[in-house]
Amino acid sequence: SFSADAVPQAPEDPLFGLMAAYRADNFDKKVDLGIGAYRDNDAKPWILPVVKKAEEILRKDPALNHEYLPIAGLATFTSAAAKLILGADSPAIAEKRTCSVQTISGTGAVHLGALFLAKFYPGQPKVYFSSPTWANHNQIFSNVSIPIATYPYFSKSTKGLDFAGMKKAISDAPDHSIILLHACAHNPTGVDPTREQWKELAVLLKQKSHFPFFDCAYQGFASGDLAKDAWAVRYFVEQGFELCIAQSFAKNFGLYGERAGCFHFVTGAGTDAQKTIGRIASQLAILQRSEISNPPAYGARIAGLILNDETLFKEWEEDLRTMAGRIITMRKALKAKLEEMGTPGTWNHITDQIGMFSFTGLSEKQVLELRNVAHVYMAKNGRISMAGLNTHNIDYFAKAVDKVVR
Ligand code: PMP
Repeated sequence: SFSADAVPQAPEDPLFGLMAAYRADNFDKKVDLGIGAYRDNDAKPWILPVVKKAEEILRKDPALNHEYLPIAGLATFTSAAAKLILGADSPAIAEKRTCSVQTISGTGAVHLGALFLAKFYPGQPKVYFSSPTWANHNQIFSNVSIPIATYPYFSKSTKGLDFAGMKKAISDAPDHSIILLHACAHNPTGVDPTREQWKELAVLLKQKSHFPFFDCAYQGFASGDLAKDAWAVRYFVEQGFELCIAQSFAKNFGLYGERAGCFHFVTGAGTDAQKTIGRIASQLAILQRSEISNPPAYGARIAGLILNDETLFKEWEEDLRTMAGRIITMRKALKAKLEEMGTPGTWNHITDQIGMFSFTGLSEKQVLELRNVAHVYMAKNGRISMAGLNTHNIDYFAKAVDKVVR
């Protein structure tokens, strides 16, 4: 029989635990480099100006109410989301070989994809994650009982990509494995394959008949350029892969708590592609119905409005460049300061890495010392959220790092 007493204590989520510890700290120079959420130069959350504008428009719309969205979500949002990641002129969209379901942000999209594959992917494949990867990947795929394996990704010595190791593991994996790939701005390392390396990966995945599962949480946020950050996904679609995409709008619209996301499935070209995609869409709808019934409306309305309006879209691109640009400036400043002080080690990886995070190479011991001595809060694996740095705290942080490294 069930015994409530026997339920064991689960560990606290490390990052949300870190955030609570930061909040409880009264030191005036404390620095929060934990959770990946954009902050402005005053360490404050930033509502994108274009999002404020869209909210104003929505507030004045007399036609809006609080009715349910359809099971697959707001169609104007999901179709614009597909164009955003696949490209407006994508042959896959023109040939109606894609289907899209609105999800509870990127997490919900990864989950819906994992659930779908657990149910319909024959032969009980393993899913391969980069080592390291976003910690939630493990939990999400474990919850649907898909066995997990990893491929090497980060080289401790170069603080860049271990491309040889990655290729070897992908080529040693049983044929028809699921390979999870970060579309851009890899979390936690900030290290992405180059275009040439993506091309090699595509050849390898094709040879092995692997199934690519793209997780795209940072489009436009990495480089400031939406098309550039979608290049890998579009290239794989061009190569004829059947694949899926989990898309988050948390970071690029700053809509973290509104949970705006999308899951896309793309089938290969073929005479029956439209029928196939129709069946897939029908199954996704059933899964969605049993899990969340229908997705939340507010964030999707905001993103949908901006994605479908030429003027607002341009303003959004401007906001993206503001966020990506400030982060890139902070990367340069941090590297320069550490080099100026002669801090032991090499620091070029800080500007080589892209996106929200930098994998500093600091050890767990050094991370804990930074927290205890300098009130700097960062993940134990040495990852820092670049957005937590600003012109007011970067000197303080660089000096603190210098001290623990010596
Ligand atoms: N995948 C990756 C790799 C991420 O970094 C994130 C954000 N931390 C997500 C998915 C999804 O986040 P959200 O559910 O907030 O969209």
